[in-house]
Amino acid sequence: MKLIMLGPPGAGKGTQAQFLVEKYGIPQISTGDLLRKAVAEGTELGKIAKSYMDAGKLGPDDLILALVKERIEKPDCKKGYILDGYPRNLAQAEAMEKLGKVDVVINLVLPMSELVNRLTSRRTCRKCNAVFNLTARPPKVAGKCDSCGGELYQRDDDNEKTVSKRLDTYTAQTAPLIEYYKKKKLLRDIDATHGMENTLASIVKVLDKI
Ligand code: ADP
Ligand code: ZN
Repeated sequence: MKLIMLGPPGAGKGTQAQFLVEKYGIPQISTGDLLRKAVAEGTELGKIAKSYMDAGKLGPDDLILALVKERIEKPDCKKGYILDGYPRNLAQAEAMEKLGKVDVVINLVLPMSELVNRLTSRRTCRKCNAVFNLTARPPKVAGKCDSCGGELYQRDDDNEKTVSKRLDTYTAQTAPLIEYYKKKKLLRDIDATHGMENTLASIVKVLDKI
């Protein structure tokens, strides 16, 4: 099963993708996580990516494509994968077609007004990238990851100023993908307003029919 998680920043793509990894045993490919890893390692790519991420803009398509391609070619992706954060504009969607056909696009639907709150109260595990939320999904022990005990931190781009730029970027560049995948009859809208468990149940219902 090959699927794309679509939706604005803060809709819960990463959280849901992590649940689906456990349920279906296929890997999550998060371009955001791959870029943050490059930033932490101080690679050339990381240096370029950081300036875009801090500005709430998208990184260069060709660099991101190379990153995704390298990841998709690994043996664990043979059975399928969950793309989280890719594609993010029309050019990337078209490039993606050449890498392989996806079975379904899960579109998490949520009012824009909720997103700022969700993003600024988000905390991420430095070690395993698990996502928590100070109000909606607090860790069992403050500041520590439930799954690996790693340190939780606030992403550099989860501050109010960058968040509002990221939402603008989403509206201008990523939202048009909704129409794009609707036309291809791949889009499934999922109401993401009723908590993590209900959202997961709705996604599973869709995926079990595929
Ligand atoms: P979110 O979905 O919460 O905005 P991500 O972790 O997916 O967060 O992405 C963080 C940042 O990484 C983006 O704001 C962007 O700068 C960069 N990025 C991630 N995926 C892509 C992509 N497919 N194309 C270009 N830039 C990307
Ligand atoms: Zn962890």
